[in-house]
Amino acid sequence: MGLSRRDFFKVVPGGTAALLLGFDAAPVLAQAKELKIARTTETRSTCPYCSVSCGVIIHTLGDKAKNVTPQVVHVEGDPDHPINKGTLCPKGASLYQDILNERRLLKPQVRRPGSDHWEDISWDKAYSEIARHIKTTRDATFVETDANGKTVNRCEGIGFNGGCTDTNEFNYLVVKTMRSLGVCYLENQARV
Ligand code: SF4
Repeated sequence: MGLSRRDFFKVVPGGTAALLLGFDAAPVLAQAKELKIARTTETRSTCPYCSVSCGVIIHTLGDKAKNVTPQVVHVEGDPDHPINKGTLCPKGASLYQDILNERRLLKPQVRRPGSDHWEDISWDKAYSEIARHIKTTRDATFVETDANGKTVNRCEGIGFNGGCTDTNEFNYLVVKTMRSLGVCYLENQARV
């Protein structure tokens, strides 16, 4: 059988080259994969990148001791998920690099009016500032009656946009909360 150099390198990634050389690399490859996730904790989650909302399994290494920070070591598609059945597109397959990324934001930031940069603030300060902005905006934009004198009681100055990783329960609470404020502009990325 003739095998060109180009053909040889085409088959190397699948381990077929090893077969051609007289041994089967499949068990070795299977064991290497198993070792990577052999002692991990599996956490089911949702890919946050687009509205398809594929299910993922996040593998975390750590013995759950108090002084141990769990480390994400692998992310893969969830084979039991009805949407993607274990598959991920290239973007979702790179989710691991999004989780372990030094540029990932881990705390709230705010960019003040007229400022040219973002500044870190505490969660407590973020919550209180968000609450103050909601109150101010709602007071300034609340509409009790429309042009025909009909009672509408709506807040036209605030909108809410959810994400595809939000659960049904979270979305239920969002709708209840926003409607109680009179907010009528509700949208979700999962619908886009
Ligand atoms: S894996 Fe790809 S298709 Fe699936 S939710 Fe993520 S970005 Fe969208």
